[in-house]
Amino acid sequence: MTAQTTVKPTARLIEVFSAIQGEGLNVGTRQIFIRFALCDLRCGFCDSAHTWNAPSTCKVERSPGLRDFEIHSNPVPLPILIEWIERQNLPCLHDSISLTGGEPLLHVAFLKEFLPQVRSLTNLPIYLETGGHRPEQLALILPYLDSVGMDLKLPSVSCESHWEQHAKFLELCHNSHLDVFVKIIISDRTDPSELERSALLVANVNPEIPIFLQPVTPLAASEQFTQTPVLAPAPEQVLMWQALMKRFVPHVRVVPQTHKMLNQL
Ligand code: SF4
Repeated sequence: MTAQTTVKPTARLIEVFSAIQGEGLNVGTRQIFIRFALCDLRCGFCDSAHTWNAPSTCKVERSPGLRDFEIHSNPVPLPILIEWIERQNLPCLHDSISLTGGEPLLHVAFLKEFLPQVRSLTNLPIYLETGGHRPEQLALILPYLDSVGMDLKLPSVSCESHWEQHAKFLELCHNSHLDVFVKIIISDRTDPSELERSALLVANVNPEIPIFLQPVTPLAASEQFTQTPVLAPAPEQVLMWQALMKRFVPHVRVVPQTHKMLNQL
């Protein structure tokens, strides 16, 4: 007789906390954030470079929004994460659960087990924030998601190029009737032809999908890891680029990161 081994799902996390969403379609809503470790991209403007590698510990808020963090070791077993979410989920407080990172889709085996459980426990909608470049992994958890904020990385700003994967990814979200929006970080170095290509990519899937142009929040000198600092675009550039994209898609909004203005996580 062969012994049966069951692998218990675990995840490498950065932090779990409650905060006001500062980006995209859900801006201003209250979410329980689960920030996953690891990212396979290296965007020049990244404000979460601390997520690129998996640390030996993660931070977990004891009471939602109070920043009274406890430190726990990584990786985190699934039932423990469920307990932490249960503790965060006070009545009438949160609008949804945000899976963020890093790149949450690098944890798809864990998410497949975790999402149905957390959903039936909290009844909260599940929102995925992603680099939008891993359609194969997305397909595995689509049934458990309610909304997706998909980054579309402009090579001129991020130094990453994933046009084909972005197109597949957006199509998958759209065909699954998820609430999806596209987020594009813009800087003073944005190549307008890439904005035109992005607008056409979205229009090709469905012109009604909203696009959020997010002027980059310049990082402090100590946080920069590229030689040339990434600077916010000039106001006239933003006006010009929004007008350019609106020739192809009607819903192009310009929204900077509001959580930084509120001094939030
Ligand atoms: S995808 Fe997000 S976490 Fe990864 S490098 Fe880009 S900005 Fe940073």
